[in-house]
Amino acid sequence: MTNKSIGLEPQVYDYLLQHSLREPEVLRRLRQETAALPLSRMQIAPEQGQYMALLARLIGARQVIEIGVFTGYSALCVAQVLPPDGRLLACDINEEWTDIARRYWAEAGVASRIELVLAPAHDTLQARLAAGEAGHYDMAFIDADKTAYTGYYESCLRLLRPGGLILVDNVLWSGRVADPDDQDSDTLALRAFNASLLDDERIDLSMLPVADGLTLVRKR
Ligand code: SAM
Ligand code: CA
Repeated sequence: MTNKSIGLEPQVYDYLLQHSLREPEVLRRLRQETAALPLSRMQIAPEQGQYMALLARLIGARQVIEIGVFTGYSALCVAQVLPPDGRLLACDINEEWTDIARRYWAEAGVASRIELVLAPAHDTLQARLAAGEAGHYDMAFIDADKTAYTGYYESCLRLLRPGGLILVDNVLWSGRVADPDDQDSDTLALRAFNASLLDDERIDLSMLPVADGLTLVRKR
């Protein structure tokens, strides 16, 4: 897995960052702290965070789901652009990483907009459906265990309103989805997931070569 844009020469990538990235100081510090962790590559790239925030603004998102929080970078990018009464439901299972997230959300003044639930995301999503929240959300970001993507997608589709947006991360998986010799379980899951979306009549679809591949799904 990478968080650098696939296929971009380093020189061009640097240019892109220098000429478009407007990263608030708190996000820059969170990225620096995360960089010291062994799994820092799990964090989304800063230009992707900025892009996701722009999308949230474009659709006027108020209610957002995030599946896969890690140290909270992507959640903070989106929470920062929600209206004061907006809410982000953040799903993860790891206390150590999300403790870092909570610290930065508080510092950025958005902690009250983020509800972190530490439980398998599948259970959290099922609980929200059982609580009658189908059609309640504007946007979802799927970025956790790859073998569960199809289940997360189906639940998110039910939880979203028509016109809502699902963003799915790592759909190109460092290019491994296009390598027929790669039979790793995550690769197989992502390949099957990508294939299933192509003919899904419930959605409008766009797969972008942003970072490690980002699929945009609009619920019809
Ligand atoms: N979006 C994050 C960011 O921008 O920094 C990166 C998320 S990281 C790639 C994946 C996260 O999914 C990890 O924090 C991991 O603990 C979490 N995760 C893995 N399995 C999960 C599950 N079954 N339910 C909820 N979260 C899970
Ligand atoms: Ca990711």
